[in-house]
Parts: sequence; structure tokens; C-alpha cells
Amino acid sequence: MAGMTDERTRGDSPASLYGFCLRSLFRPYGWRFAARVAARHPWRTLRAFRAAATIDVNDGAVEVNSGAPAVRAAGPPSVVGAGFCLKPVNPPCPSGRANHDCGFLEHQAGRTGVSVPSACRACAIREIGTSALRAGSAFYVMTSARDILEDLYRPAIEDRRFPTGLFLLCRYSFRPFAAGALASGMRVRMLPLASGACSDYRTWLRADRGMKDEQTTVDEAGMAGVAGSLGARTPSHTIRCERRGNVLCPAADEAA
Ligand code: SF4
Repeated sequence: MAGMTDERTRGDSPASLYGFCLRSLFRPYGWRFAARVAARHPWRTLRAFRAAATIDVNDGAVEVNSGAPAVRAAGPPSVVGAGFCLKPVNPPCPSGRANHDCGFLEHQAGRTGVSVPSACRACAIREIGTSALRAGSAFYVMTSARDILEDLYRPAIEDRRFPTGLFLLCRYSFRPFAAGALASGMRVRMLPLASGACSDYRTWLRADRGMKDEQTTVDEAGMAGVAGSLGARTPSHTIRCERRGNVLCPAADEAA
């Protein structure tokens, strides 16, 4: 639980969201968000930021709603996301670190006779991604704010593709992430990373650029939250997925 004290004391003020926005406005993510989300839905964006500013980031799990059906009541969320920082560093993830790739889920999971590589055995991405795909949810390894805008918010706005979502991310990101999701018409449940997470703008910005040496973790409460939202299917249920852009989606017969 190292780092938890910092995570509970920083970014607590609603003003932290507006500070985050001001700093981001002069970066590519900020003006892209303004053009692709805020300009299309200005009032919804305004409401989203007001709602996100009041989130209690110290809660174990936070759910925010733009009007879509409740994440759990509506069945498995349409998408599950987890930060790339959960990828193992020793031994390192064979798919690389600051990217959307999980070679195990894409090519090996659910195949008979395939042994799990040592790096993948205790990997939270594998565990969460497997649960998501088994439940019929898409799975997304989250990297930068810009990619989240293009891969999640934009499809949510343009195609209503991701009305509900479950995400594991640092508490520091709860408010800005919730603001973007609400402005995009999503209903999301956020679970905090337990240790190693970013707790201020400087470390967040480095991670956003792919510079994140620490491996983050999900604690028992977090994994219980994942299981609670995704439900249980038989462990032997095979996984077949196809990659659409940066998102892994259950193959057609899996999603049925
Ligand atoms: S299971 Fe984890 S370690 Fe293995 S390829 Fe996927 S992200 Fe990398």
C-alpha cells in the first residue's frame, strides 16, 4: 500500500480538477478535447466538469453517470480499462510497456496447450483482461490521455460504442477521467490502483508520455470490485478476441 497516504492527500480539492484543466489546455490533449468533445456538447461538458469536481477521490470505488444504465444493473460494462503501468517490469512484459498491447490476451489466452510466459503469470492486465473478455466486455490497456480521447471518448460520442465502463486508474486521474467520460455520455465505475500510482501533475504527465518505471498494483478490494462488476463465468470458458484499433473486443461468438 505504499503511496496510499500521498494518494489520499493530494488532488483532494475540487480546485485540483480546474488546475489540471488549465495545465492541459496548452497541451495537444487539451485542445483536442475542446474540439472533439466540448465543442460538440458544451452544456453536457460543463455539467460533467461540475459533477467531476465534487467526486470524493478517497472512496474505494466511484461511479459517475451521464444517464446511461447503471454499470452493474445493465450487466457487464461495455468496456474495461486498466493502466499500462500495471504491466510487469521484472521480468518485463514481452509486449513492451507504454502501449496498448497484450500479446498474451491477443494470441495465447484460451488456447489449449499454451503455457503462460513467466512475466504474464502474475500480471494484473492478464487477470483483468481475461475476466473482461470472458464477461463479454471489450478490454483496453490505457496509455495517454490523448489515446483515451481517441479510443474511448470519441467512439462513445460518435457511435454510442461505450455507454458503460469499468476502469482501474490512479486516484489522481479520477476527476479528469470522469469529466471526459461524462462529457462523452458514458457511465463509468472507477477503481483505484493500490500502489505506485501517480499522485500529482508532474508524475501524471511523465506517465502520460510513457515514462513510468514503477509497476502499479491492484489490491484485493480492487480485484473484488472487478469481479463484482464482471460477474463470474466458468474458468474453462475460452477466450477469443479481435483487436479493433487499440481495443481488444470479444470475438462475435464470445460476445453473444
Ligand atoms: S499478460 Fe501482462 S505481461 Fe503478459 S503480455 Fe499481457 S500485459 Fe504483458
